Amino acid sequence: GAEALVRWQHPARGLVSPARFIPVAEESGLIVPIGVWIISEACRQHAAWRDQGIGEISISINLSAVQLRDTELVDTLKSAMSQRHINPQFIELELTESLLMENVSATIDLLQRLKSLGVSLSVDDFGTGYSSLNYLHRFPIDKLKIDQSFVTDMLDDPNDLAITRAIIGLGHTLGLKVIAEGVENIEEARMLAAAGCDELQGYLFSRPLPASDFVAWRQNNEGFQRP
Ligand code: MN
Repeated sequence: GAEALVRWQHPARGLVSPARFIPVAEESGLIVPIGVWIISEACRQHAAWRDQGIGEISISINLSAVQLRDTELVDTLKSAMSQRHINPQFIELELTESLLMENVSATIDLLQRLKSLGVSLSVDDFGTGYSSLNYLHRFPIDKLKIDQSFVTDMLDDPNDLAITRAIIGLGHTLGLKVIAEGVENIEEARMLAAAGCDELQGYLFSRPLPASDFVAWRQNNEGFQRP
């Protein structure tokens, strides 16, 4: 699978970091049209890879709080997927836990409408925001993404290892899949696999790369063994 990450290639400034332009886009509301474009572009890319015979590659798309307040969001996603005849099981939406807790009943309602399209939902940066464990099982979510800060320090700090294992246990107890972010070396991968983590993501596999390079990366890593 792949996570869709937005970048801005500016004609004069070069590559502008999302850390610079996403907050501005959120403040100005421009994140809504940008988000519509990201959804459409992720669907276009998924369909292009499928139609080229490369495969149906799962793509996850990050959503911001501002986008969740956009009443068109469900329709935007629905029409983007149907335009490209996409099997929604290959589309995953990522939301942060703080965003989920903002307005719980409205959020549950929205998440149910998104889920009814057939896409899956994951909680991004899990462990760094404010999750109510009481609410967590009421959200129709499929996956927890362990924040990379825990994974990065896991091998040096027993507390981070304990937290990582606890999140995997919590997720599985609630019937959720768990993915670790920020996996950079094989020792971390082995540790996470031994702890029962379902999926891994990070520089061990690849740094963020343009879609055109993803295909070559995938062909070169076809035989990648589970650690
Ligand atoms: Mn993400």
